Amino acid sequence: MSPIDKLTEYFKEFPGIGERQAKRFVYFLLHKNPIYVKELGDNILDLKNTIHQCPSCFLFFQSKQDQLCEICSSQKTDKTSLLIVEKDADYENIKRSKNYNGMYFILGGLVPIVTKETPNFVRIKELLSTIENQAKKPASTQGGNDLKEIIIALSLNPQGEHTDMYLREKISPLQEKFKFKVVSLGRGLSTGTELEYSDSETIKNALLNRQ
Ligand SMILES: [Zn+2]
Repeated sequence: MSPIDKLTEYFKEFPGIGERQAKRFVYFLLHKNPIYVKELGDNILDLKNTIHQCPSCFLFFQSKQDQLCEICSSQKTDKTSLLIVEKDADYENIKRSKNYNGMYFILGGLVPIVTKETPNFVRIKELLSTIENQAKKPASTQGGNDLKEIIIALSLNPQGEHTDMYLREKISPLQEKFKFKVVSLGRGLSTGTELEYSDSETIKNALLNRQ
């Protein structure tokens, strides 16, 4: 395989990129000067060395491995509320709307409708352990809180709604034990809404109307 074809194969794995676009990327790089290409390569390597996932909420952030992110470790974060999103881009969008100051959890995907047992599609085990860790810290201790509310913030499409139901079912034993509320953001959005592409006003309204 020629280097052109080889690199094309790599780009084809990027989300939303087909054969033709992948090839355009390769030719774009061939036309760029060597410094640009070297810097691009260095930055890609750097990404894996300097960015890690928070072990509690699974956000990507600049850190050493196994460090809590700023949101999870900050005293300013409202620890009574935990908001579950599908992916980092959804988190970014909610953060940008400046209407939520609580904790997050990145689920890492949605549960497909057709499959019954789905432990590999989403971080369900990790979610339950984060909820339990947060809920059992008494409010009086350092970094402690009273987890009062879990907000499920998934896109309003069939797979999102299916995942919402799946999460509620999995969370319910902990909910009974720790007595927090579980609400869905999706009910304040209109059908078909992708969280990633919602504007701040829409997110603000959805947060106000959560139920
Ligand atoms: Zn975190």
